Amino acid sequence: MAAHPDVMDKLVSLCKRRGFIFQSSEIYGGTGSVWDYGPLGVELKRNIKEHWWQSMVRRDDVVGIDAAILMHPRTWEASGHVGGFVDPLVDCKTCKGRFRADKLEDARCPQKPSKQPGQHDACQLTEPRQFNLMFKTFMGPLEESAATVYLRPETAQGIFVNFLNVQQSTRQKVPFGIAQIGKAFRNEITPGNFIFRTREFEQMEMQFFVEPGTDMEWFEQWKAARMAWHLGLGLSPERLHFHQHTAQELAHYARAAFDVQFDFGGTLGFQEIEGIHNRSDFDLTQHQQFSGKKLEYFDQPNNKRYVPYVVETSVGADRVTLATLVNAYREEAVEGEDEGRVVLGLAPFLAPIKAAVFPLTKKDGQPEMARRIQDDLRGAMAVDYDETGSIGKRYRRQDEVGTPFCITVDPQSTGDDTVTVRERDSLAQERVGASQLKGYLLGKLAG
Ligand code: ATP
Repeated sequence: MAAHPDVMDKLVSLCKRRGFIFQSSEIYGGTGSVWDYGPLGVELKRNIKEHWWQSMVRRDDVVGIDAAILMHPRTWEASGHVGGFVDPLVDCKTCKGRFRADKLEDARCPQKPSKQPGQHDACQLTEPRQFNLMFKTFMGPLEESAATVYLRPETAQGIFVNFLNVQQSTRQKVPFGIAQIGKAFRNEITPGNFIFRTREFEQMEMQFFVEPGTDMEWFEQWKAARMAWHLGLGLSPERLHFHQHTAQELAHYARAAFDVQFDFGGTLGFQEIEGIHNRSDFDLTQHQQFSGKKLEYFDQPNNKRYVPYVVETSVGADRVTLATLVNAYREEAVEGEDEGRVVLGLAPFLAPIKAAVFPLTKKDGQPEMARRIQDDLRGAMAVDYDETGSIGKRYRRQDEVGTPFCITVDPQSTGDDTVTVRERDSLAQERVGASQLKGYLLGKLAG
């Protein structure tokens, strides 16, 4: 299989130039591995989150919640994060660099980037020590250990502790799921690769509660559903595959775990974008033990009580955003033109801007007609207006942010009330009546 090219540097620059993603606090020199989404990036990420919510929550057997980031500190003892959410860390006494001991092959020696840490003669690596990835802070005015709370490193625990609240308030019957989208924080030792591994990120997680014994069946169903979701985003099938956790990778309580991996190209290659886990009854049993509250489900028709098993699907909104950008980026030659074009071939429903309206010239009522069209479309879709520069330049600007349709108002338009619609990928142009334009575009977007 041909390796996909590394487009990361080009994407980072495009994302900054066009307002998708900026380095956080850039004017102060930036904050390490924290990123801000600009006007186009926020639209793209919202479209991805909305697509997830539609597919996961708009069904009878899944409901949504939005739990708080700060949770009772006992939560993280019960979940195993206080004791076990650690990565092995090594320091280099020469360059003061810090690296994950288990990922040295992915890291570069800051003094000799052609080598990995430890391989350059000057490297002096310490023995590995365990480093907890949770961010700590204090609740209330006293900065003492009794007031320590954590920024959640995953959204899942907010779902587990609310299992009974949700089940009883919604009268859901097992099997059912609880879904949420929210921020998570991890003090990663070696973050990087743009928004691939960051210290603040968003997760979209769903915990599906099932009767023990039916868990593997549900696991297989969710595994298939989640792969179908990624394909539905337009990610190329050859860039997606499952990675089954080996016995060493599998958490002690997990009965099965598969990652959906995407090929980010270059040396990064295939990497996890989502985890699908059969977590047994580990989480609810732990919370039951640590809280002293029963977290059993009462199956009334069969008159039995049990602690449900959990099938979890956990996907990073930022990693998927990056995957869609990497997947969509292409450079191509344009017939009859010296300069080629950069295109973000995003699925139209993901595109931050759905249509852009251009007057061919700034006279003869064309700008006014273009503005009227923009106003008419605005309620139905994100629509841009541009009257600056040659029409070719305006097309290029929209192509590189993934706008699927460009609408041009020309001298004919003001006479017969028609416009040209140009499609991003095929470059095909069609004349459409201005009054039919909204329906025409909505039809194409839905298709
Ligand atoms: P990795 O091995 O890459 O650190 P993980 O196995 O720790 O990931 P999970 O805890 O299963 O990841 O989290 C589920 C999802 O959350 C991941 O598949 C990924 O999409 C996202 N995710 C996890 N850590 C980060 C991070 N530091 N930055 C961005 N996204 C993340």
